[in-house]
Amino acid sequence: MYVDSHIHLQDYKTQDIKNVVTNAVQNNVAQFINPSAHPDDWNTVVTVASEHPNVTPAFGIHPWYVDEDAQNRLDNLEKYLQEYPQAWVGECGIDRLKNPDTARQISVLQTHITLARQYNRPLIIHSVKADSEMTSLFPILPQHTVFHSFTGSADWGKAIQTHGFFIGLNFSILRKKNAAEILHTLNLSQILLETDGPYQNIERGVETLPQNLPLLAQKIAEMLHISTAEFAAIIEQNQKNFIGE
Ligand SMILES: [Zn+2]
Repeated sequence: MYVDSHIHLQDYKTQDIKNVVTNAVQNNVAQFINPSAHPDDWNTVVTVASEHPNVTPAFGIHPWYVDEDAQNRLDNLEKYLQEYPQAWVGECGIDRLKNPDTARQISVLQTHITLARQYNRPLIIHSVKADSEMTSLFPILPQHTVFHSFTGSADWGKAIQTHGFFIGLNFSILRKKNAAEILHTLNLSQILLETDGPYQNIERGVETLPQNLPLLAQKIAEMLHISTAEFAAIIEQNQKNFIGE
């Protein structure tokens, strides 16, 4: 059984959340980690999780939405983590492609890191063109940190994994010209799968669904020249190690 380790269930426009979840479960995707991007999302992911026991909410501010008020808007994060003991922290991080000014992104990220460590929660990182900024934060990241939607270099993947952190793979890795080369250098025992649905369109203009996760596993296994069953067994073990179930 697969876990979709990163899906924004609250963002589907053309699909009913209940159908998205039900169809995925029928395709062996049993559990979902549902990050928020913005405090305005937090109550929505709470509602989704309360209606679907196989959905775990995560609370955070995505680096795209870090503005001058972000630090204040994080004041409630601790309360949410106390109220929802199963919740993760995220997504949060640094995106220099969207915003080259990193000072505020870093300080907002540090607040997420501090609370994730204090409450012993997994942390979901969005990191784009911010390898050196992230590297300087490696020593303070919680043990259970996943760099989601990984499309970086082989060296960057190695750096993340050497520090004990996990890498989240979705369909975007397959679009890289050197995808096979990168996949071969990764430590397979430190990866998770995700769709990042409804984003990361497989087909232009079509919302990505978590029922596509087994297809992602199959395509990655093909590139690794191992059987899908063998790869699925590795992923299942990784899910246990990271999520603890
Ligand atoms: Zn996301």
